[in-house]
Amino acid sequence: MKIPILGIEIFGSESETDIDPICGMEVVKSNPPGGASRHEGQTYIFCGYSCKEQFDADPRRHARAAAK
Ligand SMILES: [Zn+2]
Repeated sequence: MKIPILGIEIFGSESETDIDPICGMEVVKSNPPGGASRHEGQTYIFCGYSCKEQFDADPRRHARAAAK
């Protein structure tokens, strides 16, 4: 498990983001503050541990909600 490190260096367009499926916030893929979870071959990343906990409690529901 990777520990998120504070002090993110942003390298212009190199900082790819993805959407936190719980709250809809943009999170930098390389360093998600809440970590990441895998579900059915997809990786989901989170802005904070509380969002990850919510996802892990019911991943199917949240994964489906995120797929638009
Ligand atoms: Zn979130």
